Amino acid sequence: MSDTQKLAERLLAGERRALARAITLIESAREDHRATARELLERLGRSGRQAVRIGLSGTPGVGKSTFIEAFGMMLTGQGLRVAVLAVDPSSARTGGSILGDKTRMERLSRDPNAFIRPSPSQTHLGGVARRTREAVSLCEASGFDVVLIETVGVGQSETVVAEMCDLFLLLLAPAGGDELQGVKRGIMEMADLILVNKADGDLKPAATRTCSDYAGALRLMRKRPNDPDGFPKALMVSALHEEGLRTAWEEMHALINWRRENGHFDQRRQIQAQYWFEQEVRQGLLSRLETAEAREAMARAAEDVSSGRKTPTAAAGEVLGALKYE
Ligand code: GDP
Repeated sequence: MSDTQKLAERLLAGERRALARAITLIESAREDHRATARELLERLGRSGRQAVRIGLSGTPGVGKSTFIEAFGMMLTGQGLRVAVLAVDPSSARTGGSILGDKTRMERLSRDPNAFIRPSPSQTHLGGVARRTREAVSLCEASGFDVVLIETVGVGQSETVVAEMCDLFLLLLAPAGGDELQGVKRGIMEMADLILVNKADGDLKPAATRTCSDYAGALRLMRKRPNDPDGFPKALMVSALHEEGLRTAWEEMHALINWRRENGHFDQRRQIQAQYWFEQEVRQGLLSRLETAEAREAMARAAEDVSSGRKTPTAAAGEVLGALKYE
């Protein structure tokens, strides 16, 4: 049996160390690692196992780690296996991951039924997206029931997460004023559930107001054909006091079951697979422009264009025509 085959067997048997090792492989930029990772993903792709993929977004401080820990512990308490992954574009910029802090989710990280993996540090969001997507399928093959994918509301990271999950949660804090916290409409439209966190103690009245404001805003939005009545919803939770989590899970369950029964669940995954295929093609093309050869050709062509020797269109045509495709 080859090493890759052995790793695949161990991973399928649910060994967490094998999963961690497999994720390290897919995160590696080394060509031999990439090749092994591709083989592994091919092997595991046919496992037929499926987890519920839940995306979770919210600005720093809103309580994401507190929520994931409490929610995750509740799920493992029900006998479910939970994996937590992150898409954190700031780690690409700074090299350090704000979602990768070791002290976060201490209880959950000690839970044998949980697996936590910080965001890979990559130079661009496309790289983080691919690694995370591949990590999700590794977690599924490894038998996890729920995969939580966390992100901070930065740039395109929410879109990336929404495109790889079955259900998208937006975590908000109680607002001080009566305005809708400047949450972008596009993000609200992605959300299946808005969870107003910190609905406890002195913050409870503000949370109640915020929740009804968002419920009102959601009602005004166009009804989505793939949802049952009443969705998307706004609910109150307290991650700290572990309140409202069970109800939130029940709502998620109801939505997922409805979508499964109506064929929307599989359909969404098919559309997502197409989306990622197209993204990969685009990124593959762009990466061809990053080689030293292509850069030189670009620089030369740019000079020809600025000196008037060639038109922009002609020069671009030449550069594109000369790109190498392996
Ligand atoms: P993250 O940056 O979104 O991951 O937020 P954290 O989970 O680190 O939480 C930020 C702060 O909010 C911490 O001080 C938490 O204790 C606090 N916090 C999180 N959830 C709740 C909650 O439900 N109620 C209250 N009162 N505080 C909370």
